[in-house]
Amino acid sequence: MSRDPLFKLSEAGLFCPRGAFYVDPWGAVSTAVITHAHADHAVKGSRRYFTAEPGRRVLWSRMGQHAKIEPLAFGQSVDLNGVKVSLHPAGHILGSAQVRAEYKGEVWVISGDYKVAPDATCAAFEPVRCHTFVTESTFAQPIFQWEPQQATFAKIHDWWRSNQALNRASFLYSYALGKSQRLLAGVDPSIGPIFVHRDIETVNELYRQSGVTLPKTRVPNAGMTIEEWGHSLILQPPSARWAQGFPHLGHFASAFVSGWMMLPQGSQSRRVQEGFPLSDHADHKELLSAITATGAERIMVTHGYIDEFVIELKSLGFDAVPMRTPRCRKPPRVTEQPAVV
Ligand SMILES: [Zn+2]
Repeated sequence: MSRDPLFKLSEAGLFCPRGAFYVDPWGAVSTAVITHAHADHAVKGSRRYFTAEPGRRVLWSRMGQHAKIEPLAFGQSVDLNGVKVSLHPAGHILGSAQVRAEYKGEVWVISGDYKVAPDATCAAFEPVRCHTFVTESTFAQPIFQWEPQQATFAKIHDWWRSNQALNRASFLYSYALGKSQRLLAGVDPSIGPIFVHRDIETVNELYRQSGVTLPKTRVPNAGMTIEEWGHSLILQPPSARWAQGFPHLGHFASAFVSGWMMLPQGSQSRRVQEGFPLSDHADHKELLSAITATGAERIMVTHGYIDEFVIELKSLGFDAVPMRTPRCRKPPRVTEQPAVV
């Protein structure tokens, strides 16, 4: 093994000096290997990007049409100054990848964001053996335990039907890239018409062009009828307060789709009363099982409950260290009280 670490944190992000490339840099660099196209992982301005082939359209739409993007098939490797780099499914959103880097027998895997639960819109998470594993820790607390997604979709269907019975539209807040498409692929379109915010429809089109099957969706317009309104499921990004744009059409119910819905009601992170705990991130148990499956000796913990998870991993015998970056924000405090959702 080489003595210098294969990666180190630099001003622009996680850098591989030997290979002269960055993983998910937060500044413009020469060569960027991108785990996925969410804004906190993919930043404009780099000279060239590597990304997993299924996510290339989405990344292009975010980086601009002149961005030089070199797609790699999952498992395909590229030599970057003697470092063998390949991408492997992370199961987070379409095209999300773990970055495997190997030099003189030393292997690092930088996982980006990942989840283990199945998702019809992207390739399933693949454990990759390595010596050093960089893991996120967004939901690395025992309170976060996802139920099977079929149970969550059944609850969403019940909620949608009960709103229909009251002639109320059903508004779901969900992130435009990834979460919304997973929702659309999982809901039963026979229940009623599905409308989406324009930002979500833009991503839907990229997914469809990438071969992902999604039900028919429409962007509401002035021609939307009161009957459609009362039977509809309407997806909007969390930042939108879009329902307020249709006061003439009647009442609505709203709910948020997020892993944070496992937090107790009344928590500052619970901005709406109703919620469905569907997440694009691994829950606490899934993080532990994914980490164990890598066989890694050294775990670097970033993005989430860093301190708490480092302590837990050390207690389990891992050589765990924190990896704090400017992107790491302090997560909500978790109390002992379980969520009621
Ligand atoms: Zn992400």
